[in-house]
Amino acid sequence: MARIQKLTPETSGKIAAGEVVERPFNVVKELVENSLDASASRIVLEIDGGGKRSIRIDDDGTGIAAEDMTRAVENYSTSKIQSIDDIYRIRSLGFRGEALASINAVSRMTIKSMEEGAEIGREIRWVAGEIRNDGPFVRTVGTEILIEDLFFNLPARKKFLSSEASETRRIVAAIQGFALAWPKTAFVVRSNGREVLSFPAGSLEERVEMVLGSSVFPHLKQFSRTDGSIEASGYTSMPSITKGTRSSQYIFVNGRAVKDRLLGHAVRQAYQSIIPGDRFPIVVLMLDVPPAMLDINVHPTKAEVRFENERDIHRLVSSAVRGALEEKTVSFQDKVESVYNSIFPRDDSPGAEAESSSPVSYTDTETDRSDWLFQESPQPLFDKDSGNVRGQVSTGLYWQLHDSYIMIQIRGGMVIIDQHAAHERILYDRSRRNVDGEKPAVQSLLFPATLELSPDEFDSFEKVADTLPNLGFEAEPFGMRTIIVRGIPAGVRNWDDGRLLRTILSDLGRGLPATDSILRSFACHSAIRAGEPLTLEEMESLTDQLFATEFPFTCPHGRPTMLRVEMRELEKRFQRTPKTER
Ligand code: ADP
Ligand code: MG
Repeated sequence: MARIQKLTPETSGKIAAGEVVERPFNVVKELVENSLDASASRIVLEIDGGGKRSIRIDDDGTGIAAEDMTRAVENYSTSKIQSIDDIYRIRSLGFRGEALASINAVSRMTIKSMEEGAEIGREIRWVAGEIRNDGPFVRTVGTEILIEDLFFNLPARKKFLSSEASETRRIVAAIQGFALAWPKTAFVVRSNGREVLSFPAGSLEERVEMVLGSSVFPHLKQFSRTDGSIEASGYTSMPSITKGTRSSQYIFVNGRAVKDRLLGHAVRQAYQSIIPGDRFPIVVLMLDVPPAMLDINVHPTKAEVRFENERDIHRLVSSAVRGALEEKTVSFQDKVESVYNSIFPRDDSPGAEAESSSPVSYTDTETDRSDWLFQESPQPLFDKDSGNVRGQVSTGLYWQLHDSYIMIQIRGGMVIIDQHAAHERILYDRSRRNVDGEKPAVQSLLFPATLELSPDEFDSFEKVADTLPNLGFEAEPFGMRTIIVRGIPAGVRNWDDGRLLRTILSDLGRGLPATDSILRSFACHSAIRAGEPLTLEEMESLTDQLFATEFPFTCPHGRPTMLRVEMRELEKRFQRTPKTER
């Protein structure tokens, strides 16, 4: 082993810089945070070579006092806190006082600033932390910081930077994030001299539309809910607009963009049983929390936070988002599109949607088939207000296809319902309401059934014994591994001498099952199956009940319950024009 030596300030500075400044994107993030902390109302960012050649930021914030300017770039120098306790009081984005020092250690930096109320400002130029020029400078109140040749003295780091295009993309995405959280600040971004982004100051609504695009915006629902001193607000997409990744989830805590699993999970949970498990909604979530309930000092680049009361926050966010989805204003079109997207997910914004008008054959790929199934209809097919499809159906216009699908003639075409998926949705919604406190309808068994369970099944039974009555099962233990069942959920057809309950129990497996998985398992196993013949009355009743549910277009697993086929489409397929004689 070599002898232990204290590193020179130059070396330790470069090492410390690596924690904060990994790439141009981090530099931009820190500089923008400083401008926002200085209450800038306009921030102009210019990057060259993806920020690798230069990064220039100009703001109209409060400016840096001439006599403070050298201190601003010293390590652990900040105007934002005085002691560690202050981080539980402040709302500023910065607090560690290391960004400018770190950036300065690995670049050529120039700061020009003029403080509010001052007559003269100051300009200093450093190279790798050493002052090269220092003098008076006059400008409007605010600060301009220029970073050139990032990592010029750390060639190894420089070598590992990603391409110009990918850095530029990250930087632009970061600014879009800031722009969402700070709508009252105007942002302009230029890359290699070309303007790539320009957001004038405005309302949150205007900003959301600008950043997410006017094709996505109409599909977003606003939400806002408070719990004591905590507020969750923002915009979230209707189930029809989802993405394959989390890339369009913008989550802010007190204006700070965070990667937070808790909040992401809370949002996702609001969509449970509405969209398929592998899809993600587009969301802008602003959480406002008193600084005292928050630890912002848990991550080197401040990308994570910790909450004092995680459960309350999770519940608040989930219910706020869910509330937006349940609003009765959800349009029919949105619901139909949600079916569309759950079968044929696409990643692009709806604006990028291909307007395929070319003829397609029935044997085409799935994506093409969607075209004829889901042509946009100028008129809603179902009258959402009347709550069901029946108003548009004359009795008798129901058929069952292969004992599995219900086909219904409606005005303008036909609807095909998957009887199993539809019944699953109905049972799931009903048991959800029962778990939430509504009384379940129970059908008493004429002769109570004694079921002898396997050890695993009996284990599951004990774990879910509290939930079963909510579903409509009246059962109690009766000896070692035996239970006695006196009542089953009303309307359940496949009780099958107890096989149903057994299947549900063995489905649950080990560990404590979440209520939702009990409900889903119950819905899945109790629902009528494909292959069961239905009477006309049963088909009618199933359809009515389906349309009375909150989310009739998907089953609890997110799969579609129905498809529609339009007359227009059939006419096209049969090459009839509207004028063709019938
Ligand atoms: P921190 O933001 O954690 O305080 P920084 O190293 O990012 O640390 O900045 C150091 C100090 O420099 C800040 O506390 C602030 O007083 C000052 N400063 C930096 N950028 C600006 C700016 N754009 N406008 C006004 N003051 C600034
Ligand atoms: Mg800072």
